[in-house]
Amino acid sequence: MFAMVNVVSAAVQVFAAVLRHGPISRVEVTARTGLSPAAVTKAVRPLVDAGYLVERPDDRAPARLGRPAMPLHVVAERAYFLGVKLTADEVIAVRTDLCGVTREAVHRPLTSTAVADVIEVVADVCRGLAVGHDVACLGVSLSGDVLRDTGMVRFSPFLNWRDVPLADLVSAATGLPTLIENDVRALTVAEHWFGAGVGVSSFALVTAGTGIGCGLVVNDVLLPAGELGHVAIDVDGPECYCGGRGCVEALAADRVVLAGCSAVVGRQLTMAEAISLGRSGDPAVHAVFERAGRALGLALAAVANLVGPERIVLTGEAVGGYDLYADQIRQALAAQAFGAAAACELVVRPLPFDEWARGAAVVGIQDLITRSGAARGSTGAVTLPAR
Ligand SMILES: [Zn+2]
Repeated sequence: MFAMVNVVSAAVQVFAAVLRHGPISRVEVTARTGLSPAAVTKAVRPLVDAGYLVERPDDRAPARLGRPAMPLHVVAERAYFLGVKLTADEVIAVRTDLCGVTREAVHRPLTSTAVADVIEVVADVCRGLAVGHDVACLGVSLSGDVLRDTGMVRFSPFLNWRDVPLADLVSAATGLPTLIENDVRALTVAEHWFGAGVGVSSFALVTAGTGIGCGLVVNDVLLPAGELGHVAIDVDGPECYCGGRGCVEALAADRVVLAGCSAVVGRQLTMAEAISLGRSGDPAVHAVFERAGRALGLALAAVANLVGPERIVLTGEAVGGYDLYADQIRQALAAQAFGAAAACELVVRPLPFDEWARGAAVVGIQDLITRSGAARGSTGAVTLPAR
């Protein structure tokens, strides 16, 4: 699986550095990427030629004597990108600029999960967002086994889709170049470039809610792995729908927490009711959240021990009740993370679905930059950034 990992192209490294830290000079780009000055020059040229980057004086910098510095800027309006996040009952779509800033967002309910029906809604929403704008790419994200390279959804349990050539179908319906990606990985890309992952080259994003997902970035490369939800952390734990036993999802997914709270109260609760009871001090309900928190903490420790990220971002619907098990999560992480892995920083961040849709758009931005670099032959000269 790890053989599939792509080395980050020089173009992407340079563009990401300007995006995150710009306006910055070529010298600063060299320092931030670890690329040689020649490799930076080679990577910058096609990006400037294509109009994605521009060199001009920084209006924010104080005027100095002598030749003015000409730092690199990203040209935000050079291209627009659409990002779509699919859930079982809603299409969430955004239009971003080249800087990944959301300019417009639309939510549209889904009344059917049949492939043709979903594509019709996606196409309609995208047509509306694209009107009057030069859209370079559409990214679609959804949970499940999603292959970006072939554009195939191998399996998406919540939509009950198998072997759907989604990228081709959406592209045909919208007329836009279309990429698809697993939703957690797309969100991880966006967080790496624009969110809590900025400034670190290795980080993990863990989502807790309906399922437990994980995106991993190591040395600035997104790994095509991260099935954290089915990592077993209790040999005597409950059976999981995947056929395994003691999986993180079988111990900490929303439905498990809700079933546990409902069982101790003796009636079916909503999640809002369960959180409210836990906050009002119901010890039995609180204990259910604490148990899930310990399971999540062990899951985060597994990530820390295996990958050694500098930072873990925890997000997802479950973060709404985070105060009920924050102590257990942090204690289990601290107790189980070994050696240097324990130094990993935990950031808890609610990220609404608009942000997930933005992640799909950012996948498109990365792809455009990768291709514009590759087309001019700058992909070859690559050194991974120094840690
Ligand atoms: Zn499982």
